[in-house]
Amino acid sequence: MKAAVHSQAMHFQARAGVQVANKGLQKALEKAKPLFVGKRAKGIAGLAEDGLGFEELRSTCEAIRRRVVDDLDVWLEIFEERARASGAEVLWARDGDEIRRHVIDIARRHGVTKAVKSKSMLSEEARLNEALSAAGIRPVETDLGEYIIQLAGEAPSHIIAPAVHKTIGEVEALFAKEHGRPAGTRTSADIPAMAREARAVLRQHFLSAEMGISGANFLIAESGSAALVTNEGNGRMVTTLPRVHVVITGIEKIVPTLEDFATLMRLLPRSATGQSISNYVSLLTGTRGANETEGPEKTVFILVDNGRAALAGSDFSDMLRCIRCGACMNHCPVYFSLGGHAYGWVYPGPMGSVLTPLYTGIENALDLPHASTGCNQCGSVCPVNIPLPALMHRLREIQDERGLRPRHERFALRAWGWLAARPGLYRLLTRRAARYLRWLADDSGRIRVLGLAPGWSDGRDLPAPPGQTFHELYAARKRA
Ligand code: SF4
Repeated sequence: MKAAVHSQAMHFQARAGVQVANKGLQKALEKAKPLFVGKRAKGIAGLAEDGLGFEELRSTCEAIRRRVVDDLDVWLEIFEERARASGAEVLWARDGDEIRRHVIDIARRHGVTKAVKSKSMLSEEARLNEALSAAGIRPVETDLGEYIIQLAGEAPSHIIAPAVHKTIGEVEALFAKEHGRPAGTRTSADIPAMAREARAVLRQHFLSAEMGISGANFLIAESGSAALVTNEGNGRMVTTLPRVHVVITGIEKIVPTLEDFATLMRLLPRSATGQSISNYVSLLTGTRGANETEGPEKTVFILVDNGRAALAGSDFSDMLRCIRCGACMNHCPVYFSLGGHAYGWVYPGPMGSVLTPLYTGIENALDLPHASTGCNQCGSVCPVNIPLPALMHRLREIQDERGLRPRHERFALRAWGWLAARPGLYRLLTRRAARYLRWLADDSGRIRVLGLAPGWSDGRDLPAPPGQTFHELYAARKRA
């Protein structure tokens, strides 16, 4: 079943134009990219010190996730049985509507007026906060990045760093306004003080909320547990302090055993933040026992389809292996030119360019599979070996098969295909085109306006090609 379409992905091109011109965003992205890339590289290099190879480990992680996807229904049944045996309730949700109904129903049954939340992308898919507020239940985001964007009234722009698009100055102005104090000048040295300020506010919410809502990085079938991997203590507060804990997660998040989970944990934090292990790794099973002093009295798992079951056995089943590490977007030149909001729905970057069309309808996200340079940086860093560029290509093919691309584009591609199958003619015409493009350039060697395809020169001047084709240059080099 398709996710209800509240996506803005159809407006990707217009949104991308706005984001490219946003100086604050560009400054924030410029700062973040080397951090993500550098930390991951260091984390992956650390594997060698432990005598492990990235490629072998990634094959093992891929095999674990394949085993799950191949028999998803079986693992889900095992999880459901074990989770119930440990005292938890298990509910199923076909879509965002059902998620909202379940959560509000649980909240009403337990007299909940406030819910503290740990990061959950599924609750973004369901637009849960809006529904809770409308039902008179106050949702409070407690992950620092999510807290910032909730105060700002925005959506996350990254799956593991939701406020990566904000500069320190913007967060300072927001905190000053929302926390009722005068604004100051802040630098990165002040980040711990700003975190302390947020913590003081959030601590009161942890103590007064009746319900905690979290996602899960994995569901462990053999123990019926949710695994939560975080870097802030908020996850543990959300899942242990309130009387009721609701876990909302996708059906594909299952792994068979604790040992499989431990293996995936060798790559998940390294791929996400470069850490060999995250600060908090929690395994949450059942409810508070008779002799225990902490933990919820009621635990409910909401296992969500929202388009996932339809991917099993399809051309896109590879996507169900995704462990939401964010590495693909952290290495994507398109993501780091635009930020996450341009993508118009919950998931940005290369994984979003595949998931958004699949979950919200191919016809509702036509540009996303084209938002790629084809460099395969995303595919090469993915810890479960998802062939993201190939999946984007397949989506482009489907668009073409269904006649969803503009007529001139389809004609141009067919003409190109016809030409590429005639090498003599291809060489002749590309020679002419190379000379023509050289002729278009001005004295500085740049093309200011590309006559037949002006979109390529709208936002930048193109460097002119050398006036010869690749075949000509290659032949000249061989002769030399
Ligand atoms: S597609 Fe791969 S790299 Fe991207 S978030 Fe998913 S697991 Fe990570």
